[in-house]
This record gives sequence, C-alpha cells and structure tokens, in this order.
Amino acid sequence: MRPALLNPLFARATSIQGVGPKIAKLLDRLVAEGETGARVLDLLFHLPYATIDRRTRAKIAEAPFDRVVLIEADVVEHRPPGPRSRAPYKVLVEDETGDVLLVFFLANHPWIEKSLPVGEKRWISGKLELWDGHRQIVHPDRVLDAEGLSKMQGVEPVYGLTEGLQPRVLGKAISAALERLPDLPEWHPRAIAKMPALPSFAAALRALHRPEDPEAIAPTAPARVRLAYDELLAHQLSLALTREHLRRATGRAMQGDGRRAEKILAALPYKLTPAQTRALAEIRADLASPSRMLRLLQGDVGSGKTIVALLAMASVVEAGRQAALMAPTELLARQHYAGIAEYAEAAGLRIALLTGRSAERVRMLAALANGEIDIAIGTHALFQESVAFRDLGLAVVDEQHRFGVHQRLALGAKGEAVDILIMTATPIPRSLVLTYFGDMDVSTLREKPPGRQPIDTRALPLERIGEVTARLSRALAAGSRVYWVCPLVEESEAIDVAAAEERFAALAQIFGDKVGLVHGRMKGEDRDRAMQAFASGKTQILVATTVIEVGVDVPEANIMVIEHAERFGLAQLHQLRGRVGRGKAKSSCLLLYKGPLGETAKARIAILRETEDGFRIAEEDLRLRGEGDVLGTKQSGMPGFRLARLDVHGDLLKLAHEEARHILSVNPKLEGEQGRALLLLLHIFEREAAVKLLRAG
Ligand code: ADP
Ligand code: MG
Repeated sequence: MRPALLNPLFARATSIQGVGPKIAKLLDRLVAEGETGARVLDLLFHLPYATIDRRTRAKIAEAPFDRVVLIEADVVEHRPPGPRSRAPYKVLVEDETGDVLLVFFLANHPWIEKSLPVGEKRWISGKLELWDGHRQIVHPDRVLDAEGLSKMQGVEPVYGLTEGLQPRVLGKAISAALERLPDLPEWHPRAIAKMPALPSFAAALRALHRPEDPEAIAPTAPARVRLAYDELLAHQLSLALTREHLRRATGRAMQGDGRRAEKILAALPYKLTPAQTRALAEIRADLASPSRMLRLLQGDVGSGKTIVALLAMASVVEAGRQAALMAPTELLARQHYAGIAEYAEAAGLRIALLTGRSAERVRMLAALANGEIDIAIGTHALFQESVAFRDLGLAVVDEQHRFGVHQRLALGAKGEAVDILIMTATPIPRSLVLTYFGDMDVSTLREKPPGRQPIDTRALPLERIGEVTARLSRALAAGSRVYWVCPLVEESEAIDVAAAEERFAALAQIFGDKVGLVHGRMKGEDRDRAMQAFASGKTQILVATTVIEVGVDVPEANIMVIEHAERFGLAQLHQLRGRVGRGKAKSSCLLLYKGPLGETAKARIAILRETEDGFRIAEEDLRLRGEGDVLGTKQSGMPGFRLARLDVHGDLLKLAHEEARHILSVNPKLEGEQGRALLLLLHIFEREAAVKLLRAG
C-alpha cells in the first residue's frame, strides 16, 4: 500500500552497488531503524555532523598551519626508509614559494610511488603542520592529479561511523542513495509560503550530503529546517489522525463501584499523595465518560505512576472489562508485575504476566480470551495478533517514548473502544506538552511521595577518580550498590562501548567479580542477566552505557557515578540520577567531569545540585539549550525523531501542529493532489499506521 513512487527509498541498502552483505551488516548497525535492516532512506537520513573544508588553496609559504589546506606542488624527491627501518616514508614536494614534506607511516610503497611520480604536479590536501622547523603534512588525505582535482568535493561531509566501516565506503553508499532519490511533489505549500527560503525535500537532502559550504549542514540551515519540519509535520499529522479516529469511535462508559480500589488502598502501606488522587480522579472521569480516553500521565521517575495505573485498571475491572499494562522491556514488565501483583490480588483481581518467553503462554492466552484474567502485564508481545482479549477496556502504556504511535494504535485495535493511558517519565516542559503530544489530555504528578531522602549531588574533575574508587571501597563494604555510567560518544557507538568495557576492566581489577557490565551492543538476554545480577546483589557495581533502562528499579542502588557528565544533557543527567534515592539508604550522585567546564555545563551542574524536580529541570534545560549550547547532539534529539531536535527545532513543532490541524480541517481524508503528497510524507516518516486509520474511516 506504499505508493510505488517511494519504492526506491525503501529498497534495501544491499540493492546499492558495492554494498555487499558485510557492508550491509555495518550499515544495519549504523543507520537501520527497527528490524528491517538498512534501507536507502536510512542512508539518506544519516546526515553529516561536520564537514572538512578543502577549499583553502594557498602557496606553500603562505598556507596556514594546523588546518586542512590544498596545495599545488611539484614532486621533487622520494625518501623511503631503509630496509627494516620503522621510519616513515617521506616525499618532498615544492612550489615556487617553498617546500613541504609528505610523511607516511607504515607506508604502502607502491601506492606512494604511483601517486607521487617525481617531476609531476599534484594537488595535495591535508593538515599542514610545522615540525622541527619544517613544513609537513602527515598522511595527506588527498593526493590528486588534474582529473582527480576536478572531481574533488571542496567541502566534504563527515559522517558518524561504526567500527569497521570506512568513511569512503559510507560516502559512496550515500552518494548512490542520493541518485535514487525521486522527485516528489511538494506537500506543504502553506509552510513554504511562511518560510520562503526552504528547499524541497529532495533538494534539502542533496544540500546536506553535498554541502556547498560548512554552514550548509548547520541545524539551523534551510535544508535541516526543511527536513525537521517535514518530520514534525508527519508526526503531528499522524497524531491528529489518530486522535480524530479515537474520538470518532465512541467509547463505552466504564463506571466502577470502587470496591476493588478500596481494597487496594487498604492494602497499600502508604496513602496516595494529593497529586496521585487528583490524577486518578481525572482518569476515572475519562473512563466514566462515553468518549474514548487518550490521556498522558507524566511524572518523574519514582513519582508513583504505577499505583495510579493499577487503581485505574481496577476501575475498569469493576466495570466488568479487562485492562492491559505494557512496558517497553521484559524486565520492566516483570518489575511492574512484582510491584503490583500483591495489591491486585488483595483486591481479588486476577493478574498475569504475559511475556514472549513465558512457558505458560498458551494457557494464559486462553485465559485472557475467555476473561479469566482481569489484568495482563507484558511487553509489545501483547500487541501480537495471537493475543486476544475477551473485552479489553483500558490499555496502559508505560514509558511511551520507547514506543511509537504505531504501537499505541495497535493496542487500541485490541478491543472495542479501548481507552488509552500513556505513562511517561520524561517531563516535557509545559510550553511543549500540548504540541508534543498533539492535544492529548495530560495528568501530572509533580510532587514525590513523602519520605524520600534528597540525593547528595556532587561534581568532581575526572582526575580525582582515585578518590571516588577509594570511597566506593568503603561503600561496598557497607552494602552499597553502585551504577557507573559511561557516556555516549557522538562519533561512534563502538567507542562508547569500548569506554565502558575499559572502565569495567579497570574496576574489576579493584573489585573483582563484584562488578557487572551492560551496554547497548549486548544481546537482550545477556543484558537482562547482568541487570538481574545487580538487582539481586550478586554484583554491586554495574558499569553501563546509557542503556540503563529508564524505569529499572533497584531500590538498594544508592550511588550513581556519571563519567564525563559534561557530555550529557541536563534531562538525561536527571533521569540517570533518578535511578538512585529510591530506598531507605542515603544516596549520592557523583558527576565526574573533564574540565575546564564551560558556562552552560557549570549552570547544568548547579541546577542539578539545587533541585530534583524534573519539571523545573526540563524547563531549565530548554532555557539553557535556547541559549545556543548544542553539546551532545544525540542527547538533545527528541525521542522518536530522527532529524528534528528539540533544542533547535522546538519552535517548528508549534508550526507543524497548527499546520496539521489546518490540513485536516480543510482536507480530513487527505484527498486530491495535496492529500496524495501528504500521504507520501506520512510514508516517508513511517507513520503509515495513521494512513491505515484514514482508510478504516
Ligand atoms: P514511577 O512509576 O512513577 O517511576 P513508582 O510507581 O514505581 O513510580 O513508585 C515509586 C515507589 O514509590 C514505589 O516503590 C511505590 O511503592 C512508592 N510509592 C508510590 N506512591 C506512594 C505514596 N503515595 N507514598 C509513598 N510511597 C509511594
Ligand atoms: Mg515506573
């Protein structure tokens, strides 16, 4: 059902000449979204994060040092190293103003002889340095003859890589992908009218992959803005369509009698906070009304969302229907189950954990289908076609930023008029909630349950890591459990895994088998196993890349060490810190940074030390980013988006939101020429679930 015009974009990367199975595997790792493997479109959306400017041409005597330059020179003399010498191979070149030594370590002699014939003219590009009073270029990255020069890109894009993938190979594949780019009809004339300088979708991709100058790839450059806007519009359109659909399908009023909820409340060792009570009342009012609920429950990690969800599910069961709670990972599903089963059972609710791997799956499926289970807890396995409910009334989705609209929709389709409650621990700044979630109703848990001890937050320069390990020794002896987070490296995920492995090895030298490791390259089962070992106390230090699941709950964990804290965004630091401070023991968070810190990094740390209020932190984060600090591109990306970034493109969100509403008000079925163009947009950004709804009417 995807328009044929888009087929070239959705072809597998392996259809590109020169991309064999080995390279395809690397591309899968680098650019693929989901399980389908890298496609042409994924390559096109892999945008350069920097450029190398080779346009600076200069006479040798005038060329600037420590920058990439292009010189035109005659090859004068080869100075190969002696036999068995480890010295580099040197080649002297000159123009009428001076000379330069080209230096090659571990050189490929035949290549040098062929590329730099004595007496001929060559164009050489690389970083010019002054060494021992002499000009040199170590490993020039271009040695060209006249023909090569005519083909050289003056401004060369630099891409994020993955281990084993050569920049040249990736560059070629992306070039080939660009050739496949069809001309597409314009989908938003209105926005173009508002932002007159924006190029077309295809022109924007070309401008980014073949930049004319370094500014062309800046996040604020017209081409980036265009693509970000496209993505945001696709998102807003699909949200608006979803909402329309949900609203149109009338719901069923679910009015509980409160008996089971009372039993749950009686079994709880605490009282609900006023915020929880308020949120629950809002949710119950939605459930009781005949229109369908689409509500977001947002609250910091530990703010007590889960119990609110359980009470909401109890209402639904009281009204004679079933409820489902979906977590992003199996581990989290199990955790939810463990956390609420006791209270659910106290109220006579029949609750079951249904995971992809559960041995009793078949029996449980039958029980779900005939209504012997009231509440099912699981992962996306619950969306599978084989899972049928007798009468699903409410679907609760935890940590929605790990899911997409697709899954939410799939869930809604599991029953007749299913109400949907989405729980998120990512506090979205107030100014953005409305647009970000496309008009969803929102309940917020801003205050934390009472009795939490504040987390002692400190910043230390990395050089003082020795003090930290000494302190850990004492803490471990006293039974502490410690997360040690290693940062994400922009350029390559391989490097951050390597950094975590290195830290793991170093800590294991000191603490032996008390140390565990989890990172994003591990298999799901291995990761679960490492998490479990930490949760059970078998290991006491868990070294991790940022994969520590947002919701993972190990109440005994009371120390969080974040290495290279200066590379993390404020919101992310806050999320990570939220992993500790959940139990009775006093908790601390150590931010290890590499100095000197810039103003923004200092401000971030000051805010973290000052408050644990996620909403305040989110607002401050936005403000700090608004001031133009773009440290950590990956971290500042909006969850669920590939091209748009909250820090630079946040304002476009509002525009896209208005545009989406306008479009659907004048063309609710996306018909005619412009409607067809918009369908292309939805497909390109893989929001076709919304397209399906459109058909379903
Ligand atoms: P979230 O899902 O928002 O991260 P949880 O629902 O997991 O938070 O709650 C975190 C912890 O706080 C749980 O151990 C829970 O039992 C406890 N808790 C929840 N509500 C309250 C309350 N009103 N008073 C005291 N403790 C609470
Ligand atoms: Mg939770």
